[in-house]
Amino acid sequence: MRDDRGYTLKEMVTWPARIAEGLSVTLRHLFRRPVTVQYPEVKRPPKARFRGRHHLRRYENGLERCIGCALCAAACPADAIFVEAGENTNEARYSPGERYARVYEINMLRCIFCGYCEDACPTNAIVLGHDYELAFYERGENIYTKAMLLDPPPSPELATPQADPEGRFAHRAILPEGLITRFGDPMKG
Ligand code: SF4
Ligand code: SF4
Repeated sequence: MRDDRGYTLKEMVTWPARIAEGLSVTLRHLFRRPVTVQYPEVKRPPKARFRGRHHLRRYENGLERCIGCALCAAACPADAIFVEAGENTNEARYSPGERYARVYEINMLRCIFCGYCEDACPTNAIVLGHDYELAFYERGENIYTKAMLLDPPPSPELATPQADPEGRFAHRAILPEGLITRFGDPMKG
């Protein structure tokens, strides 16, 4: 049997209990730790293996690790990397060995952050870091240039190009960190 408003007797008797039940859920969550963060003021640290924006790294002596070999570009499944090599000279040395990356660009709209470029690099020059704020407003800003990607030198006097009058780094092989050649440690000179 229903009253004038269409409610049954059971509904009329139990509505306060139902409202209390709903409010209890709200109250329970009121005192729990929030799972949301106030981005962008607060940033959640990414996981250690997160792959974000690329960096081109340097050696401790300021020389660039990239030797312009373009293996990263060849490995990239999205054809996102463009490398143009230049020749090092003793007057203007950017990296150990013969060549350096005169132009290095990554098209961030193509990149799928797979990390294949990182795996292909023989000098550990290109690495995917933890930066994920990659939004831009203008067409063309999706191209990250060498100037944007290259890490700063350890100190201003170790910026590239460096003068290498004795050609200490001209014919030295690029080796994994810590490995010493018969020429000595290529990075310490
Ligand atoms: S992360 Fe993958 S898609 Fe992006 S530049 Fe490197 S190889 Fe190409
Ligand atoms: S980043 Fe590595 S693989 Fe790519 S051009 Fe430079 S040295 Fe070669």
